[in-house]
Amino acid sequence: TEQANLDYIRSSIKTIPNYPKEGIMFRDVTSLIEDGKAFAMSVNALAAQYKDKHITKVVGAEARGFIFGAAVANVLGAGFVLARKPNKLPRETVRQSYQLEYGEDELHIHKDALTADDHVLMIDDLIATGGTMEAAVKMVRSLGAKVEDAAFVISLPDLGGLAKLQALDVQAYSLVSFN
Ligand code: AMP
Repeated sequence: TEQANLDYIRSSIKTIPNYPKEGIMFRDVTSLIEDGKAFAMSVNALAAQYKDKHITKVVGAEARGFIFGAAVANVLGAGFVLARKPNKLPRETVRQSYQLEYGEDELHIHKDALTADDHVLMIDDLIATGGTMEAAVKMVRSLGAKVEDAAFVISLPDLGGLAKLQALDVQAYSLVSFN
């Protein structure tokens, strides 16, 4: 059943206390990806939500968003667009900076990767504060494309990311959540 799959996916995620620093419970999605059954279930469960939504492009953020985003795009028959760190994309880009816990970072998307005709699904492995996804949504919208939804393997609702997406009028979905 559906719930059994979600339970299996959840059990495949290892939790590392106090990584990368004291007080953080690190939800390690690499242990899920290393398990072929959990990885396939996750990709299929995410894609299933969007089968009939005419998604033309999936956008994923470096680096773990690439792994799930590209796999989901492949199931949907959609293109995959990379949101990358600075100085990685060769053509002209749009950029968006965002706050990290300490300092700032920036993501870029190729300008010609999206048009006003695109219906976009945003994908990442995990949503915490939502800063990364907010930056990606802003870039997609700046290119005139329509952000339909954002989907995650894991959400940490206590950190406010889902509320941030709601404020941006982006519908969010996640397979498992941890408080
Ligand atoms: P944010 O921009 O705050 O939503 O954070 C997004 C990224 O930070 C995710 O894609 C994760 O890779 C990483 N991240 C933040 N908090 C955690 C956590 N507790 N466990 C694992 N990864 C995390």
